Amino acid sequence: MSIDHRQLGRDLDLFDSDPLIGAGLPFWLPAGSAARYEVESYLRELERRAGYQHVYSPVLGKRQMYELSGHWANFADDMFPPMPMGEEALVLRPSLCPHHALIFKSRQRSYRDLPLRIAEIGGQYRAERSGVLGGLTRVRSMWLNDAHIFCAVPQVGDEVAAILELMRQAHSALGLQVSSYQLSLRGSGGKYAGDDDAWAQAEQLLREALEAAGVPYDAVEGEAAFYGPKIDIQIVDPLGRESTLSTIQVDFHQPAQFDLSYTDPSGGRSRPVMLHRSLVGSMERLFAHLIEVHAGAFPVWYAPVQVVVLPVAPAQADAAEEFARGAVEAGLRVEVDQDGSIGNRIRTAAHRRIPYVAVIGAREAPVGEVALRLRDGRQLPAMAGPDAIAFVASVAASRSPDLLSTVED
Ligand SMILES: [Zn+2]
Repeated sequence: MSIDHRQLGRDLDLFDSDPLIGAGLPFWLPAGSAARYEVESYLRELERRAGYQHVYSPVLGKRQMYELSGHWANFADDMFPPMPMGEEALVLRPSLCPHHALIFKSRQRSYRDLPLRIAEIGGQYRAERSGVLGGLTRVRSMWLNDAHIFCAVPQVGDEVAAILELMRQAHSALGLQVSSYQLSLRGSGGKYAGDDDAWAQAEQLLREALEAAGVPYDAVEGEAAFYGPKIDIQIVDPLGRESTLSTIQVDFHQPAQFDLSYTDPSGGRSRPVMLHRSLVGSMERLFAHLIEVHAGAFPVWYAPVQVVVLPVAPAQADAAEEFARGAVEAGLRVEVDQDGSIGNRIRTAAHRRIPYVAVIGAREAPVGEVALRLRDGRQLPAMAGPDAIAFVASVAASRSPDLLSTVED
């Protein structure tokens, strides 16, 4: 079986595309959407516990806003053409930063509010050339796990350290292996905004944070964002290709451009620093990678269907439906499959990488039991239906990578 995410995405009904919708504009089918919903919910909860506040902001903004942010001068080639609206022009956003900067600015802020952590899983758009589009990796529409932290300069070190720890947790839960940490700096010839002092200070803050975290890294010139240096956290796909999954960026430029300020302890106005961070990048690129590293066999907690229930014969159909109802009530994603021979149905479930098959035969139905078969071929002795549901629910809740264990490594 192929491990190409485009092939697996089709085979497992995760996502697809249609020429009439357009190239680089994939849609997520119910199975892929169920997995993504679970991952998004997990990320929001992880962020909530870490003191982030979630917002919603529109995917459009006035061209003027992107002129002010610097995107128009430095990034216009990657943006869709503006849409004229009377005297104004609207553009599809290439990033969420300006919206979040203006959300910061929309209320009076004091040093007591800092660090202010604004998070959103939001849509952003890139005018990629049609020749390079494909699957979930090269797309024109993507949903970014994004956040912006507004803080004072002395708070940057602790914030970056906390972000690195949050990333470690998210990567572990999703089953991702980081290959390297890269400090991405300005290079010659690129387009960059802001003054040299700010760039030097931002670079120094990131170096100190990486060293404090004890993380070995490579400094690479020419890979910075146009507004500041960044830490890029790299992953390797099963074919050995490296790409960036997570980033942390220090930005003095946009807070100045949008004239952001807070009341400092002396009663004066001070300018916050803006940290841009994404724990796992866009949902599209994340899932392209997850599909490939897991070969479609996701951990139980975000598997699209966690249990398929197989009545051996029509006489067990009612028992199967009852078990499935209980599992749905317990928060699990469940299907009942009654079509074809039991052997074929077990093979179909394995092909779909469903973690658990609950077989209910003439022996199990009358006593309310099920026999669980695991995706990897292991089988458990028949157990009471509610016990089987509680077992699967506990593995899912623990976010264990193992089908039999509720203990995280
Ligand atoms: Zn940003």
